[in-house]
Amino acid sequence: MPTIYIPTALRPYADHQAQLTVDAATVREAVEKLTEAFPRLKQHLFKEDGQLRSFVNLYLGDEDVRHLQGLDTPLAPDAELTIVPSVAGGVATLADAPARRSIIDDARLQTVSLSQEEVLRYSRHLIMPEVTMEGQRRLKAARVLLIGTGGLGSPLALYLAAAGVGTIGLVDFDVVDYSNLQRQVLHFTSDVGRPKLQSAIEKIQAINPHVHVIPFETRLTSENALEILRDFDVIVDGTDNFPTRYLVNDACVLLGKPNVYGSIFRFEGQASVFWAAQGPCYRCLYPEPPPPGLVPSCAEGGVLGILPGLIGLVQATETIKLILGAGEPLIGRLLLLDALGMRWRELKLRKDPSCPVCGENPTVRELIDYAEFCGMRGEETPQDLQGIPCLTPQELKRRLDAGEPLVLLDVREPYELEISRLPAVKHIPMAQVAERVHELNPADEIVVICRSGGRSGQITRLLLQMGFRRVKNLTGGMNAYAQEVDPSLPVY
Ligand SMILES: [Zn+2]
Repeated sequence: MPTIYIPTALRPYADHQAQLTVDAATVREAVEKLTEAFPRLKQHLFKEDGQLRSFVNLYLGDEDVRHLQGLDTPLAPDAELTIVPSVAGGVATLADAPARRSIIDDARLQTVSLSQEEVLRYSRHLIMPEVTMEGQRRLKAARVLLIGTGGLGSPLALYLAAAGVGTIGLVDFDVVDYSNLQRQVLHFTSDVGRPKLQSAIEKIQAINPHVHVIPFETRLTSENALEILRDFDVIVDGTDNFPTRYLVNDACVLLGKPNVYGSIFRFEGQASVFWAAQGPCYRCLYPEPPPPGLVPSCAEGGVLGILPGLIGLVQATETIKLILGAGEPLIGRLLLLDALGMRWRELKLRKDPSCPVCGENPTVRELIDYAEFCGMRGEETPQDLQGIPCLTPQELKRRLDAGEPLVLLDVREPYELEISRLPAVKHIPMAQVAERVHELNPADEIVVICRSGGRSGQITRLLLQMGFRRVKNLTGGMNAYAQEVDPSLPVY
C-alpha cells in the first residue's frame, strides 16, 4: 500500500506517527483517507472550500503532484507520498541549468592576491583541482552576507571565515542568552549578555584575521534590506521566522542575488539555493506563509543542538560552490534531512510561472510589510493580542495571594510543565483545548498560561469565541511570572 510521510509539525494531529500506509489509488483518495482517520489534520491541509492549502505541498517520490495530475495523480502500491508544509522553501529544471561559473567575475579576481601566510593557511585548498590558487582568490574577493548569527549563522560564520571568504557581512541585533549556547557555537558562556555581533566578530577574527567583517547591528527590515544586501554576492538566510524569510527572498529576487536557504525544526532540516535568475525562489514553492500558529518556531518547538550544524554546513558548502563555480548547486532542489532516521531526501523544485515575485507577471515589485503579510503571531508581535483581556504576573500573584477562586489553565506541552509550573493548574495542551472544552466551566474566571503569552493568547481568543466571558491571558506567560514574581522558577 502507498506510504504517506507526515512532517513533524503535523504529527501532533496524526497520533504522532511519522509515516503510515493507506489503501488508496490516487493522491486524493490517500489524503481523504488520511483526514478521515485523523480529522484534526484536515484543517491544516485543506481550506474551508476543500482546496489544498497553498503552503502545503504534496510530493509523490521527488515530484510535486501539482506538476503531475494534482490530486488525481494515480498511486502505485509502492508509492511514497510526502507532505511538505512550509518550513522553508522553488525553477528551471536541472536540464536547463546554464553552465556553472563563479559568481565572482574575472575583473574582481584581478584585484586580489594571496600573501605567503595565506598560501600556507589555505594550502589544503590550493592543491585541490576544484579550488586552486584561482578559486582561493575568488573566495577572498567574495562578499557573503549572513542574516543572523544564531544557530545556522554560527557554523556558517566559523567555516566560511576559516575557508577564506574575504568579506563577511553580519546582520544581527540580538544579545547572547543562556538558551542560545546549546546550538549557537559561535558564542561562548562568557558572551552571555553581550551583543551577538560583537561576539561573532571576535571569533571570526580569531579564526582568520584576513576576513573583513562588515557588521549591521539592526533588524533586517523592508526599509533597509535592499541597501544592506546590494553590495554582497551571496545572501545566506540563517533566520527562523517567516517574515524575514519572505523579506530575504523578495529582496534577493529584486536584486538578482542567490539566496542560500536553510531551516531547522527539532530533528528535521531543509536546505536549498533560491536564485530566480536560474531557478525557483522560495515563493515559487510557498506563495504565502502558513497562518500564525501552525508552524512553531524553534523557541516553541525546540531544536536539536546539532541540527543547525548539519544544515548550516550544507549552506556553507553551497555558498563556497557558488563562489568557486564548482559542482552542481542546490538550485531547483530541496534537500530534506530527517536526523532521527538519518535520511537525506531530495525533492525537485520548479519555477512557478505565476510566482508573485519571480513569475512572468509579478505583483510584488517592491518590498512589503512582511510582519503583516505573515499575520505575525502573538509571541512576536504583542499588538496582535490587543483587545484580548489579560492579567499581568503581579496581578495574578496578588489575586492568588488574596485567595481568589481563579482557574489556572496551562496550555503548554506536558514536558514544559516539568520545567516550571504553578501549583493547582488545570493542564490541557493547546491542541486539545477545543475538544476538551467541556472540562471547563464558563462560570469560572479562567487565566490561560503558556511559556511567553502567545499560545495562551490564541487560546484566550478561542475560548472567548466559544462563549466564555471570564477568561484572561497571562501576559508574558510563565517566563514573565518567573522573572517578575517568582525568581525561584526557571526561565526557559
Ligand atoms: Zn518565485
